[in-house]
Amino acid sequence: MKKNNILLLIGGSALVVFFATAWYVAKNISVRQSAPVVISFEQCRASGNRITNSYPRECIDAAGKRFIEQVRTAAGKSDVIVIDTPAINQKISSPVTVSGRARGSWFFEASFPIKLVDAEGKILGTAIAQAQGDWMTTEFVPFTALLAYTAPVGTDNGQLIFQRDNPSGLPENEDDMRMPVYIASTDERVVKVYFGKAGASEADCGNVFAVERTVPFTQAIARATLEELLKMYEASWIDEWYDSKETARRYLEKGRRILEKFYEQHSGHWPTTKAIEQGFNLKMGDYTLKGKIDRIDERDGGVEIVDYKTNEIVPTKLTADQKEQLLIYQMATEFVLHENPVALTYYYLTENKPISFKGTPEELTALRERITTTIVAIRRGDFAADPSPQKCRQCDFKSICPFSQA
Ligand code: SF4
Repeated sequence: MKKNNILLLIGGSALVVFFATAWYVAKNISVRQSAPVVISFEQCRASGNRITNSYPRECIDAAGKRFIEQVRTAAGKSDVIVIDTPAINQKISSPVTVSGRARGSWFFEASFPIKLVDAEGKILGTAIAQAQGDWMTTEFVPFTALLAYTAPVGTDNGQLIFQRDNPSGLPENEDDMRMPVYIASTDERVVKVYFGKAGASEADCGNVFAVERTVPFTQAIARATLEELLKMYEASWIDEWYDSKETARRYLEKGRRILEKFYEQHSGHWPTTKAIEQGFNLKMGDYTLKGKIDRIDERDGGVEIVDYKTNEIVPTKLTADQKEQLLIYQMATEFVLHENPVALTYYYLTENKPISFKGTPEELTALRERITTTIVAIRRGDFAADPSPQKCRQCDFKSICPFSQA
């Protein structure tokens, strides 16, 4: 090859390498220059990043940074509370697990109340959201709650209301966030209808097959059942425990109204009950705690423990003392009955209102220690009266106790 040709070839190759390098650098510079700086939910979404099902929604970019959608409604509170489950407008069933994150200022003593209301604003159920971390912060703190409720009749739309806890009671400290959800109405029922296979013996269960049918709820049948129930109630009534015939009659009537309301709310969607008045003996070190659980229902993944309350005043939030009874039942359910308690519910009969929660491991350990310490103190003879107007008002011994402040 001639010298000129060799020089031409080297020059040509150098040009190819130069242009290839220049193209690569230009491409990368242009990519770097054109990558948008993401500062909002809309920009993050426009870049094709992942959108969560939370309410308000969040967009998570490739670096894991989260951008919360600004919900442009009066109810939007995305700067203080975000709901992860359920999703907005999701169809829910009882009990529903609610989870999300709220600023520390939304909590008081690590909790805040949640309500589920129907389209008319009637309360179907309430729960207490529990912080899953240190709530004494201005940052977002995760929370969870388990809300059991009574499904409404003839309406589908509902709202979950997340109330900022307001121990001051001052109106200026009140705040809430509302999220629409879908609740299946109960004016129709799905029933199984069984048919026999052609030519097969009806006596053999293996020769029938089931078909699901949706049928309207029949008030006449429901009314007849309620009347039977009221007859049972009246037959079991004992009026010897009241100070006068008039008081007994008032309580009998009140019980009848409660029973009617209870039946009306639950009719057609009764839970599957595993046990009522379930006794247990729970070992606590050297001691044994005896108790009886009002009702145990089957639930997805475990059981719900229900304790009926007849209090006139229904709390909006449970104190640590009020939780104690159901926390003991939670331990008994786990360790004695070997069931998985997924919800603990106080059912307030006067308002037909359930309040549900589930004890944390820390609450159970603290309660176990408190019970053991109390038993030891009582055995030492150290059980001085500890009256207070609030405690004494609810005490069965207030009329004979010399320390009563009721
Ligand atoms: S009435 Fe007596 S026994 Fe009952 S809570 Fe008050 S101090 Fe205790």
